[in-house]
Order: sequence, then C-alpha cells, then structure tokens
Amino acid sequence: MQRSRVDLHIHSTASDGVLTPEEVVSLALEQDLAAIALTDHDTLSGIAAAQAAAAGSEMEVIPGVEVNSEGAWGDLHFLGFYIDPNTPLLQQQLGAMRLARVERARRMVQELAKLDMPLDWEDVQRLAAGQSIGRPHIARALLERGYVSSTDEAFIRYIGRNGPAYAPRLRLTPPEVIEAIHAAGGAAVLAHPFHSGIQIEDIVRFISYGLQGLEVYYPNHSPEDVQILLDLCGRYDLIATGGSDFHAPWGKEGAPLGSVYVPAECVEQLRQAAGQ
Ligand SMILES: [Zn+2]
Ligand SMILES: [Zn+2]
Repeated sequence: MQRSRVDLHIHSTASDGVLTPEEVVSLALEQDLAAIALTDHDTLSGIAAAQAAAAGSEMEVIPGVEVNSEGAWGDLHFLGFYIDPNTPLLQQQLGAMRLARVERARRMVQELAKLDMPLDWEDVQRLAAGQSIGRPHIARALLERGYVSSTDEAFIRYIGRNGPAYAPRLRLTPPEVIEAIHAAGGAAVLAHPFHSGIQIEDIVRFISYGLQGLEVYYPNHSPEDVQILLDLCGRYDLIATGGSDFHAPWGKEGAPLGSVYVPAECVEQLRQAAGQ
C-alpha cells in the first residue's frame, strides 16, 4: 500500500505525551503514514530519537515544535516545521520558557501556602512525573491533600486565571514566536486557531509577521471551521496543515495518531516555505 497520509501534530514524552519518540514512530509506521511531524511543547528534545527510530523506513520524521504564545486572545499555539534542532537562539528561548514555567509553579505553591493550603513541592514534582510542571499537577496536589474535591474546583477557586493563587506565565508574543521559528529555519503555522478568542483580522496581522500556514484539519474542527480556514488559506496563500494533536492512545487530549491527516503534498509545501 502506498503511504500517502501525513499527521503533522504529534506529542511524545519529550513534552506531555505518554509514548516515547520511538514508540510514536513505531505506531506511525503501523498506521502506514508517509510522514509525521513531532511537535512537542516548547522542546526539540525528542526529535533526534524519533528520526533515528524512523531511519531506514519509508516514513519521514519532520522536525517540529509547538510553541506557546500569549496575547489578548489567551493561549495561542504556533507550530514550527523543519526546525533545525541545533539552532541556539530557539533552544535558548525554549529553555527560558521551561525555566519560567517551573518558577511560575513555585510561585503558585507559595501563594497557596499563604492561603493556608501548604503543598510539598516534591508532591507537585512527583505528579508531573518528569513532564513540564504546570497547573494540572498543582490541581492534583491540592486534590490529594483534600483542599478541593476535584481538579476543576482547584482551577475555579484558586489557580484559574482569576484565582487568588494564579500566576501569569512568561511567554513569547506572536511576532516573537514566528521570528524564532524562522530564525531556526522553520515554517510557522498557527495551531488549532479556534481554541482562542482570535479574530480573522488577528490572523491577517500574523501573516504580516510572517505566518505561513493554518492548522485547518484538527480533531474537533467542524466542516464549517474547516471551510473558514480553507478560504483564508486560499485568500492569503497560506499552507493548510492538519494533524491529530496525538498525546496518548487513550484518554488524553487529541485524537488517535494518524486519524487526522493531510496529503503528502503538504510536506513539500512546508519544506519550500521553510526554504529547504
Ligand atoms: Zn496546542
Ligand atoms: Zn499540540
């Protein structure tokens, strides 16, 4: 069977996925995918292992990344494709973001102590289980201690955006993210555009910053969502990407690996956009 499907949005244990980069590659080979992009959050550390695991097969592993950005719209994610993993600037920026994430979690634990809900930092680390530490782990630590009756309650009462123990996150702005992806040799794409309160005019502004594509095909996109994004791609000459946002074979965000895909031509468009 000819491999033709490409899944351009996949996470591994290098960030918050549950399969190692090698396990992701063997699952993708089982699914007969022509190519995958490993797009872990704020890190390039899984790429070498994934590429090594795919060496000698007919499947390409595109070096990618998913970078968080802040804006008036809330959480925005950008995908970078054909990133050079050895680029010092992007590595430095991602490293600073990871450090800031730990500092932010510590700050929230301090604020919770002031609210008479002391937590052991070791417990929060244990719950993170080697993943980048964040609010879900603090919420689970609060639940374990019996301070809340659900992790939802932890967010609503304490660590959500308007909660008394909330600490903001250090993030790059959209033009900074796009510039960092370009500086690392990559093509910049806006991930799951409808997850934030972003407006069409914001997307158009991002194009002036150098945005090259939109993630059109995504697990929860309705046919109308897809049409709106395809129209934008046509009007502004953007690449229409897509992927599963795979995190785990069951029970986590995203869809099964390979279940949301684009044709192999998309890979060639990204390669050209990245100037490779
Ligand atoms: Zn995302
Ligand atoms: Zn993702």
